[in-house]
Parts: sequence; C-alpha cells; structure tokens
Amino acid sequence: MQESFIKKKYAPMENGTGDNEILKLAIQKSGRLFEDSVKILKDCGIEIRNGHNRLKVEADNFPIEIYFLRDDDIPQYVEDGVADAGIVGENVLYEKGKEVAVLERLAFGKCRLSIAVERKEEYTGLQFLHHKRIATSYPFLLEQFLKKNQLDAEIHEISGSVEIAPGIGLADAVCDLVSSGSTLFMNGLKEVETILHSQAVLIKNVSLNKSKLAILEKLIFRMHAVQQAKHNKYVLLNAPNDSLERIISLLPGMKSPSVLPLAEPGWSSVHSVLQEDEFWEIIEKLKDAGAEGILVIPIEKMIV
Ligand code: ATP
Ligand code: ZN
Repeated sequence: MQESFIKKKYAPMENGTGDNEILKLAIQKSGRLFEDSVKILKDCGIEIRNGHNRLKVEADNFPIEIYFLRDDDIPQYVEDGVADAGIVGENVLYEKGKEVAVLERLAFGKCRLSIAVERKEEYTGLQFLHHKRIATSYPFLLEQFLKKNQLDAEIHEISGSVEIAPGIGLADAVCDLVSSGSTLFMNGLKEVETILHSQAVLIKNVSLNKSKLAILEKLIFRMHAVQQAKHNKYVLLNAPNDSLERIISLLPGMKSPSVLPLAEPGWSSVHSVLQEDEFWEIIEKLKDAGAEGILVIPIEKMIV
C-alpha cells in the first residue's frame, strides 16, 4: 500500500521518466560541508528531515535519498556506485584521484591547500623546501606539487592536527588546508605556497542510467536558479519621466526593465534586475540621473 503511494508520488511527476528511480546523493555527515550541503538542497526546495544521526534519509518531495558519510569516503562511494552523486571538497576529490565526473562548483567550503613554514624561518622560495620534512594529510597532491617543481622532500602523512608538526619537531613545514589563516598563525606558522584553491563540488558516478541522470538534471537546474538568484538583486526605483530614458539605459535587466506609471503625475516606477558585481556602480549612476526611493530586494530563485 505504502509502496504504491510512493510510486505514484514520485514516478512521472518528479523525474519525468515514468519510473520510480531515486538518486542517491552523498553529503558530509558532520563538519564544515554539512550545513551548506543541506542548505543548498533546501534552497532547491528539497526537504530532508533532520537525518543528522542517520546513515540515510529520503526526501519528502523529490526523488532523492541523502547518504551521510565522512567526506573522505564520498569519492570512493560515488566511483563504486554506492552513491550516484555526492558533494565533496575539491581537495578531497583530487587527493583521492577517483574516477568520477565533476558537474558543478558550488561556491561554498572555500579553502586552499597551502604549504606553511615556521614564522621565524626566512623563506626565500621553493628551494627552501628541498630536502625538508613536510607533514600533510594530502600526500598525493603534495607529491604532485613537489614533482612539478623538481623538489625532493620527505612527506610525512598524518591524519589530523597537521599544524602542530613543526612545533613538536616532526616536520620542517606543513601542507594543510587554510581559510582565514588563523590556525596557522596560532601555531607560529606562515603560509608560503598555495597548491590548490578548493571549493565544494557536485560529483557523479560516470555511468548513471537515464532515469538517474534525469533526476540529476532537475537538481542542477534548481541549483543554477539558486546560484543565479544569489548573484542578482531586484531593484525598484522611482524616476521622473523626463529622466526615464537615461535611467533605463543604465539598467541591464533580464530583457528590459518594467516601467509603471506612479499615482503622482510625471513619475514612473522602474523595476529591474542587477548583478551583484555591477550593483554599486549602477546605483550611484541611477541616483545621479534622478532616481529616488531605490529599493533593493534579494531574489530567491531566478530562471533565465
Ligand atoms: P570528516 O569527519 O567528514 O572526515 P573532516 O574533519 O575531514 O571531516 P572538515 O574539517 O569538516 O573535514 O572539512 C571538510 C571540508 O571542508 C574540507 O575537506 C574542505 O573541503 C572544506 N574546508 C573549508 N575550509 C576549511 C578549513 N579552513 N579547514 C579545513 N577544511 C576546510
Ligand atoms: Zn575528512
């Protein structure tokens, strides 16, 4: 009884393929990527009940099942097909070197994999690292970097608290993830080389069937709408009719701005969409051109 209900709920309606396939998506169980991963799904209208302490949970309103895993395991599970897709940091993805496809960069979990040395050292360039001991949880990426730069160094693989290695005499340098740099600073270290800029990405198994791909496409379509919205603002302003032409010429809009007459004669209300990066510059120009009562409103979803 319940099964047929689920079939009805998901089948032709959600993945558009007429079957009741479900996409298995792996996200980090807890840690730095967890909250943003859940948020991006929520912003895409996918409701998952608090499954924090569970291994997996099915969404109520989208044919997707979320697996909560350690981030290090996600590339392997996606390669094996235990999960169909996953959200993981590029740092972990490239370190593991698994055969999966990257679909989207998700603009969160931003950090860099960097080499740091003790602050008291005079770092003169890459040659400093030659024949030194470097502690890291990223031996593969570090080795690639050393090879590329023809450096010979001893790699000490440790799984956590890499930053304390120089202080306890275990290494001369570290290769670790950095975002603000405060952890390095607190441990008397300074960042000297960046190996990789990383952010969270959406990955998929390389041989998904058509139904699963259709679900994934729907998910990506929604993610684009959310990301577009984040980069744009909805702008409403009042313009004296004699400046209308000039003001309209300043606004890019999705097609062209909407212009509505105001109750007060000689004035119009102008509605448009502005991109985040050009926003302040255009607002200044709009003010100079006579715009008044400018309202800026965040956009929740944007389909272009
Ligand atoms: P797990 O228990 O899942 O293995 P973890 O301890 O390996 O967790 P977290 O510290 O939660 O991992 O980091 C997860 C990911 O968050 C990193 O792999 C990286 O992609 C991203 N990240 C962003 N900023 C930082 C940072 N400053 N330090 C570490 N990771 C960061
Ligand atoms: Zn991890």
